[in-house]
Amino acid sequence: MGPTARVCLFSRNPGGPYEIVPAHMFLNAPEPSLTATAKVIAFANQKGGVAKTTTTLNLAVAFAEEGHRVLCVDMDPQGNLTMSQGIDPDGLKQSMYDVLVYRTSIRDVINRREIDVACASIDLAGAEIAMSTMIARERSLQKALAEIAGDYDFIFIDTPPSLGLLTINALTAAHKVIVPVQCEYLSMRGLVQLQNTLAMIRENLNPDIDIEGILPTMVDSRTLHAKEAIELLEENFGDRVFASRIRKTVRFAEAPVKGMSVLKYDPDGLAAHAYRQLAKEVLSNAQR
Ligand code: ADP
Ligand code: MG
Repeated sequence: MGPTARVCLFSRNPGGPYEIVPAHMFLNAPEPSLTATAKVIAFANQKGGVAKTTTTLNLAVAFAEEGHRVLCVDMDPQGNLTMSQGIDPDGLKQSMYDVLVYRTSIRDVINRREIDVACASIDLAGAEIAMSTMIARERSLQKALAEIAGDYDFIFIDTPPSLGLLTINALTAAHKVIVPVQCEYLSMRGLVQLQNTLAMIRENLNPDIDIEGILPTMVDSRTLHAKEAIELLEENFGDRVFASRIRKTVRFAEAPVKGMSVLKYDPDGLAAHAYRQLAKEVLSNAQR
């Protein structure tokens, strides 16, 4: 957690205006650091449909509920994160494509909803080719984020289902990676490939990048297969596997249709609770 989280006088009241924090809460807080910057977490797995977007959004909203200032960056041309907050990607004048290719300020593509979202639209699919001849093409996102890193405590990056240049930009800009994994044997094999990519990024672009945790998603606890898949994950990745589990429920499919997180759509449900639990786990790991 960045030091700014503890010293801001105003904390974001989820879904509402800023609220004033009582004086005693900040008088004992450490001095704000001039170099305070957001902690950047990428959500990656080259497999599609493993709950990357769902996790990015719902964990971000859970962090915002805890008073943190959170930006989500949509780096997937499918714009699912953008849509999950009720924003039509086709109606956007500018998107992450302009940020990455034309160096448009990222502030110009941020829309404020439950959390702030730097939006994507389908044109982002052309960004990999457009960036391919640019110098330092792997660092376009990192440069864009530098401008606003002081405005947020956390920046979450949703990535597309590939290990191409968009994902490499995300992993180069990030401090940590969270890897959502669907609890099936075949999904887990892809983790080796992701680890190889991370090793390449560590060697060439971002020496400190590391896995914050592996998140079992869509867990159907009634099946033996899910139980065995989690055991396999724990055998291979030990305490890198989060203690939190995200169970399978139709709520996750329903909420985006309404343009909301599950925490807003069904605030007292098990699905919302699971992401609040994960937020506590990630925040307490960050303080270790
Ligand atoms: P990705 O971004 O990895 O492609 P998504 O987050 O878009 O994956 O999830 C894929 C689909 O699965 C979506 O329709 C989403 O609503 C649904 N989904 C996500 N998490 C769960 C869950 N825990 N239980 C049931 N469905 C889920
Ligand atoms: Mg997605």
